This record gives sequence, C-alpha cells and structure tokens, in this order.
Amino acid sequence: RNNAEKFEFQAEVSRLMDIIINSLYSNKDIFLRELISNASDALDKIRFLSLTDKEILGEGDNAKLEIMIKLDKENKVLSIRDRGIGMTKEDLIKNLGTIAKSGTSAFVEKMQTGGDLNLIGQFGVGFYSVYLVADYVEVISKHNDDKQYVWESKADGAFAISEDTWNEPLGRGTEIRLHLRDEAKEYLDEFKLKDLVKKYSEFINFPIYLWASKEVDVEVPTDEESSDEEETSEATTSEEEEEVEEDGEKKKKTKTVKETTYEWEVLNDVKAIWLRSPKEVTDEEYTKFYHSIAKDFSEEKPLAWSHFTAEGDVEFKAVLFVPPKAPHDLYESYYNSNKSNLKLYVRRVFISDEFDELLPKYLSFLMGLVDSDTLPLNVSREMLQQHNSLKTIKKKLIRKALDMIRKIADEDPDEDPDESSDKDKTDSVSENDEKKGSYAKFWNEFGKSIKLGIIEDAQNRNRLAKLLRFESSKSEGDRFSEITENPQEMLKVTAFNYDEVIFFTDPVDEYLMQYLMDYEDKKFQNVSKEGLNLGKDSKIKDLKESFKELTKWWKDALSAENVDSDESIKQTARLMYQTALMESGFMLSDPKDFATRIYSS
Ligand code: ADP
Ligand code: MG
Repeated sequence: RNNAEKFEFQAEVSRLMDIIINSLYSNKDIFLRELISNASDALDKIRFLSLTDKEILGEGDNAKLEIMIKLDKENKVLSIRDRGIGMTKEDLIKNLGTIAKSGTSAFVEKMQTGGDLNLIGQFGVGFYSVYLVADYVEVISKHNDDKQYVWESKADGAFAISEDTWNEPLGRGTEIRLHLRDEAKEYLDEFKLKDLVKKYSEFINFPIYLWASKEVDVEVPTDEESSDEEETSEATTSEEEEEVEEDGEKKKKTKTVKETTYEWEVLNDVKAIWLRSPKEVTDEEYTKFYHSIAKDFSEEKPLAWSHFTAEGDVEFKAVLFVPPKAPHDLYESYYNSNKSNLKLYVRRVFISDEFDELLPKYLSFLMGLVDSDTLPLNVSREMLQQHNSLKTIKKKLIRKALDMIRKIADEDPDEDPDESSDKDKTDSVSENDEKKGSYAKFWNEFGKSIKLGIIEDAQNRNRLAKLLRFESSKSEGDRFSEITENPQEMLKVTAFNYDEVIFFTDPVDEYLMQYLMDYEDKKFQNVSKEGLNLGKDSKIKDLKESFKELTKWWKDALSAENVDSDESIKQTARLMYQTALMESGFMLSDPKDFATRIYSS
C-alpha cells in the first residue's frame, strides 16, 4: 500500500515466528484462545479506565464490552473483534513486533529444544500463535487517542503499518483478520469454533459472539402466472409446499423455502466461578478454571486449591491454586520484579494482576484471584495500593495459602507409611506414585519459596518451618546407603551410631538456618560462629575420642595428591561430618568448617 510504513521484526520475534510458521505442531487450536484472551485483556483495560472516566466508553455499540468472531468462507478469513482499549500506532509497533519482551528469548530457547508450544501464552508472546493457522494477518485497531491503523504481516521478517482509509471504522477496539492457510480451513467451520470457545474460553468474563448461520423457513408468495420453473428467491429451495390461503376474497399462493440467515450467537456463559458456592463447583471446573487463568493448557491438574469467602471488616472472595509446576522464571525474576499471579477484582471488575500488595514475594508462585466488595472501585491503582484493607486481605490470603499447602503435606505425605505391603502389587504402582508424590512434587517445585519465606516472613516463620523438608539418611534413596557400598568407607561410617542425618544441599540452606533458631523443642546452633555452646565439656572430649581414627584418616586423605578429584573422599567426609554433628545434637551447614576444625585439632 502506498501509505504503508515498513518495519522489521526484532530478531528474536522473527525467529519465534519462523518456528511457529514452520511448526508441525498438531494442536493449532491454541491460537484462538490466545486471541480471545488478548481481546479479554483489552476489554478489562478499557473497563478499568471507565471506572474513573465514564466518557471513555463512548455511546451505543461502542460501549458494549464484547468479543465478536466472524467467518468469511469465501475469502478464507477468520476475524476476531473486540471493543477493548485498542492500540495506537505506537502500540502496534511496540506490542506486535519490535520490542523483545522478556519472555520471547526464553520461549524461543525452549522451542528449539522441543518445548511445548501450548505454553506460549505464559511467555507473553501468544499473539504470534496466529501464524500456526494463517500466512497473512491484519490487525486493525482504533484507540481513543489515535486514528485507525492497520498492522499487517506475512511473517516474512517484516510488518507494515498504514493509516486505515478503506475499512469500516471500528469505533474503538481491535479486529484481527487471519487469512487462513489451506491446511487450516477447518477453522471456518462454525461447529469447530463453537467447540473451541467452549473448551478454552469458558471463563472469559465478556460475551463472545459468533456470526452464526441459521436455516429458517420463510414463506414467500408465488406468482400464479409464472410457472413452477421460476424460483422466487436466491435461497435454496428444499421442499416446496404450495398453499392456498384465504385472504378475504383474494386467493394467494405461497411456498416455504429454506433460507440461510446470520445472527450473533453468544457462545459462552459469562459466569464468575468464584461467586458460586464451593460446594457447587466440581473439581473439573476448578481445574479448567486454573488452566484458563494460568494460561496453562497442559492436562495437568493444580496440586491444590482453596476457594473461600472472607467476612468481617474486609469482605472478599478468593480462589488460590498451587500450580503443578513452577513458572519458568519464578526465581529468575524473584529479586527484580514483583510479579504477582493473583488477579484483583473489585465487585467483579478486573482491576489488576500486578498488585504486589496481595501476596508476599515468596508466595508469588500461587495463581488465582481475589474479588473484594470492600475496596473502592473508582480510585486509581496507585491509591488502591495504599488502601488499608489490602493489608487485611494479604494477611488472610497468606494464612489460607499456608493452610492449603499444609493440607497437601497432611493428605499426601511424601513418605508412605505402609510401604512394604505395596511392594508386590505392581499394578498399583502408578496410583501409589501419585498418592505419594504430591507433597514431594510440591517441595521439588516450590521448596525454595518456602525457604525464602522463612527468611522473609517472621510472622509466619513457625508455620513455614512445618513445611520444610530436607533429605536425610532416613529418606528414601539416601546417600548413606550409596556410600556404604564401598566396604572401605563402610567400615568407618558404620562406626558411628546416629539417629538421623540431615543433608543441607541447597546454597540457601545456610542462610535459612540463621533465621531458624529452633524447631519445636530443638535448638539449632551454628558451629562456625563464635561463642558456640556445645553443652557439657565431657561431650567434646567424647567426640574427640570417637573421632580420633577419623581425624587421622582424614588428615592422610587430605594430604593425598589427588584429594581434589576424589569425590568419594569428599562425600564421605561430608557425611561423617554430618553424622558427627547429629550425634552431638547440632546441625551444621558447611562441611569445610568441620574439616578445618578436625584438621586443626
Ligand atoms: P500478552 O497478551 O501476554 O501480553 P501477546 O503476544 O498475546 O502477549 O500480546 C502482545 C501485546 O499486544 C499485548 O500485551 C497487548 O498490548 C497487545 N494486544 C494484542 N492483542 C490486542 C487486542 N486485541 N487489543 C489491544 N491490544 C492487544
Ligand atoms: Mg496474550
């Protein structure tokens, strides 16, 4: 086009588009839910702005917050339109092509090593999934602050933007036109689309319409003079039923023909699951709801959820989920972002998903939403952030979240109390695994968060301490038994008797133990600190005595030339050190300290 301005995609985006367009990925359906989710986000944004500025919505159709899908079979175009916030020219350039969002490169990397395209929405690049089904895409957009523009690209490394002088004015919002590839013609089928919307976009809080065809019977007058050969309408005539009607004195002939008409058919039932009573919501509905808010469409179930109503001074409803997997950037972004995964609603209106006031950082892996009736609706996000009620909400959310996690541990502990009896029942293994796995799985994915919680949240430290798990000599697959396979080492290791050895293997553990002075009736001490109180002096003597042989052996071992490369010596040393400490009733986190102590003694 003459007035088109050309732009190149940022390299990362271009690579991503190549991957998508060449993808043999069979689940191409995902593009639709990404587009609907973008439309819904855009509607949320305009609705939020309208809380403080009523004018912003405009009048008539413009004020209707809805999503509309249309199919043009002849031209093989599928279009999705919303009356959301729209994009200015600058937005189009920025959002659809030039600036790499933090997620892009992470996602490209994952895709190159066989990642799951299904997770595209979680990486903030969901829009580009349109190229799974289209080879040419137009984005027509009108924002209140700008003229109407068309963004277009054939995924060939470039896109163009033109002022829109030929399409119908949108009023406000965005229309995405997908020129479908031949292999993607199935998306012109109304039934297919209805199905997809049901499947993926059930929890969208705005009505989704389809311009759907409908066969209707219409009666048309026939001309008596002209014979049967002539059809009266362009509609397809199926059965032809001649009727003679009494109309006063005149006699008129009519016939019934089938005609295809079109009308907007609503596809979703706009319901807020969190407003329903928890008793009435099925597990399947919670799982689906989780998938939709987490943009996680793997089949995995959340590890746990909690749906509750808080009453009192501050009233709110909330649904919290523990995802089955940690998000890809959970700890990566931990210290430099406040990314929360909780959506805040006030009286059913989406306010924000960027509230760091709702949950502490260490619980940022939780997904869900909070809908409060107590918070004021028509104040800015910043003012809301200061609101006193938020503190109360936060406190209650933490309490509920920790209860929920505690429940996973109680109901699904990682140790199986009745292990031996299951051993021969091979066919029950998978079921048993699942039963056994939940807390272990939780710990594996989010254990670090609990540790960070101990460090950061003094108020809930005791509650969090109960959620800690460490590998120990009692746990399954323990290192102790591995090491004792070497008889020479076994000789020395088994010389000690111990109750349980706890392994601190994570770098954060040492730091953690500075915050955890005691647990139930046990006090911890750090041996590497000055002023260590080992209790009775005789105990130290006893220790020295019982470690005499070890000390000598270790001195020799340490002076051996290949000590650095000999992993087993180090491992044994470490184990012994921990054994010794456990025996004396203390825990330590750094084997080096111990080695130094023994060596220097
Ligand atoms: P995400 O939705 O995670 O931000 P996407 O790739 O799906 O990532 O979309 C990129 C951006 O493009 C969005 O953040 C939004 O700013 C803009 N966008 C996409 N679709 C629309 C739309 N229908 N209306 C307004 N803005 C949109
Ligand atoms: Mg999106």
